[in-house]
Amino acid sequence: MIERTFAEAQLMRLTGLDFFPLGNEHAKYRAELVKALCGCSLTDAHAGAIVDLCARCLRQAPKPADLYQFAEQTAERFRQRNTNGDCPYCHGTGFSRTWILHTHEGNGHYREEQVSASQYSELREKVQGIGVQHVAEGVVRCQECNYGRRLAVAEQTERQAS
Ligand SMILES: [Zn+2]
Repeated sequence: MIERTFAEAQLMRLTGLDFFPLGNEHAKYRAELVKALCGCSLTDAHAGAIVDLCARCLRQAPKPADLYQFAEQTAERFRQRNTNGDCPYCHGTGFSRTWILHTHEGNGHYREEQVSASQYSELREKVQGIGVQHVAEGVVRCQECNYGRRLAVAEQTERQAS
């Protein structure tokens, strides 16, 4: 659910579409659209995405049903972002930072080990310039929240399937 005024402002981005209900005589119909957009948007950003889709896919002004359909198509993204925004590790992105120790074993083979942040700074001092080992920063899926774990599982399933 979002603010009426915000929904209204978003919808006004679509005035270039054919048959957009402008003017006093169409105020009632415009109010219907505002009501629909308010009702189907999870967040302001979600409302923006719905209107983006209208602008991209429609030649004529949307009907309330179009708004609901586009809301459905985009909801997953914003639902997850929204409920996991307070994860202290990944801030809702599903990614967290990691540090990796690479050990070259010759013939183009190398081993990768995940290390902690403090190990990383220690190792960086030690392995600098040796050539066989180096440490690097990387990103992995966050293991501290459901969103990150769910994405990790989904990616693993995808990898196995391909
Ligand atoms: Zn997280």
